[in-house]
Amino acid sequence: MRYVMKFGGTSIADGKKIRHVAQLLIGYKEGGDQVVAITSALGGVTDGILTNAAEASQKGKVSQVKEFMAELAKKHYDAISDAIDNERIADEVIETIDIRIDELEKALIGICYLGELTPRSIDYISSYGERLAVPIISGSIRSMGIDSKPFTGGEAGINTTENYGNARPLKKSYAQIKEVVGPLVENSIPVVTGFIAEDKNGIITTLGRGGSDFTASLIGAAIQADEIWLWKEVHGIMTTDPKIVPEASTISQISYIEAMELSYFGAKVLHPRAIEPAIIHGIPVRVKNTFDTQFPGTLIVADQNCSEEVAKAVTLIRNVAAINICGAGMVGAIGTAAKIFTTLANAGVNIIMISQSSSEANMSLVIEQSHLKRAIKSLEHAFNEGVVGEVAYDEDVCVVAVVGAGMDGSPGVAGKIFGALGKEKINVIMISQGSSQHNISFVVKEEDAEEAVKVLHREFGLGKKNGCN
Ligand code: ADP
Ligand code: ASP
Ligand code: MG
Repeated sequence: MRYVMKFGGTSIADGKKIRHVAQLLIGYKEGGDQVVAITSALGGVTDGILTNAAEASQKGKVSQVKEFMAELAKKHYDAISDAIDNERIADEVIETIDIRIDELEKALIGICYLGELTPRSIDYISSYGERLAVPIISGSIRSMGIDSKPFTGGEAGINTTENYGNARPLKKSYAQIKEVVGPLVENSIPVVTGFIAEDKNGIITTLGRGGSDFTASLIGAAIQADEIWLWKEVHGIMTTDPKIVPEASTISQISYIEAMELSYFGAKVLHPRAIEPAIIHGIPVRVKNTFDTQFPGTLIVADQNCSEEVAKAVTLIRNVAAINICGAGMVGAIGTAAKIFTTLANAGVNIIMISQSSSEANMSLVIEQSHLKRAIKSLEHAFNEGVVGEVAYDEDVCVVAVVGAGMDGSPGVAGKIFGALGKEKINVIMISQGSSQHNISFVVKEEDAEEAVKVLHREFGLGKKNGCN
């Protein structure tokens, strides 16, 4: 079999875990399989050290930047000493790490003096998590006697658009990856950085937070892998976030569409665009637990009808804001909706949910919380006179969604959801159902959100059995 296997930050959080991952990969290789490994940054690097260092640089705090770089170096030196026994290989990897950290420190100090942190420089800074991880994993594999070469996403052939922070892969990447990575899988284990790529000028771009899932799927499609495996700290895709409901159970099989809906609606287990390339090429994706390797995890395939279940999972999106646009003048005023959406699109605001009452006197939207300021400013500017009377907003809200292809054409699901919430006195602020009928999503106050998830998880009996056995 030919596999692309991706390891997230929690799977490679330290040297001992990296050693375990290297052994796991070698086990497949020695069993006669071909494997390409994709890795995230070591746990705590992107979100912790790099984000903090970027903030310090923007504030011009050179000494803090230096402290973060020392922390970064120590974390990676410790990992090397636990993951690589061979001294020569360890020295080589240390040398690479030193060069990269030095480069990063120079860039951060440059930002200290400029005081300007652009999306392009944020991508550059956050790319270092993966760029520091890959030489260590590859070195660990080599120290165990199997040939391996580290690559950045760009070196592996991934080219993207220039929208930093959320770049889109270009079609030509597929042929390029096949040419670079394809010939190496026979006799070695190539290790490629997840999450990062390059634009046409060779500038580093990223595929969005959690983007290494996306990289794995891209590379899997390019080299025509038999399966793409995403190794994580959880037992697969579960009926809800196990951090909210510990009784959540693993969904043994789920369709591509359902998995995508789950990730769109906040299930942090998968990058929202991760499986697009796998879908196009019909490659099965498996989500497995790095620390319980025998457990089968979740299989994501094309089949929509793998279970009788109406609802498969409950998800939660945090960090959103609701906007309510109202005014008697909106009734029958043609083009108001178009103007609202164009205004928000021009301001770069991402809309997550839309709902309009049939009276047409108001429209409610849910957007990312980080876009709220510019959303309100642009709407107030666009509607400073005329049909819209008021633009109100609420930052303390969350979106909860019930997802499952079995909901399509199945009556009574909405009644069940809102009946259960009503019984628990949870107030629903806004409701939306996509025309796919694969999900019903609604907005509640932030303080009610986890309770709403628990209530619905119980109501649909999700913790007890798996979706498809
Ligand atoms: P990665 O290694 O790709 O970053 P993680 O190992 O962090 O992935 O695991 C995924 C995380 O997603 C878990 O920490 C878990 O709490 C969260 N999560 C949210 N919703 C779900 C869900 N439905 N199923 C599984 N995990 C979920
Ligand atoms: N390191 C990146 C992040 O934390 C990418 C990833 O983990 O998939 O978002
Ligand atoms: Mg994670």
